[in-house]
Amino acid sequence: MPKKRPRQSEAKRLARARIKLLWKQASEIAKTDPEGARQRMKVAFKVAQKVRIKVPQEIKKKICRRCGMVLVPGENCRVRIRNNRSKHLTVTCIACGNITRYYVR
Ligand SMILES: [Zn+2]
Repeated sequence: MPKKRPRQSEAKRLARARIKLLWKQASEIAKTDPEGARQRMKVAFKVAQKVRIKVPQEIKKKICRRCGMVLVPGENCRVRIRNNRSKHLTVTCIACGNITRYYVR
């Protein structure tokens, strides 16, 4: 076993820090460079996959599941509150038209 390799928990800690950083950059450039933001989040998901951790829910919520675009309300996604059977938010990605629903209590 090579000694250089960081321990698993250390790798996870680093991965989390990297995901956070990538998300920060992605959210900052989401308006000016949507493609760049998307690429960064792609990397973030890969990093998470590699060490088998989950991307935090609050980050996942702001990314389109279909095309991976960083969603900015009023910019590239449409957010509507609907109240048919139960109250929920619908987030429509303008880039690909994907609709995600979030139920609110
Ligand atoms: Zn999309």
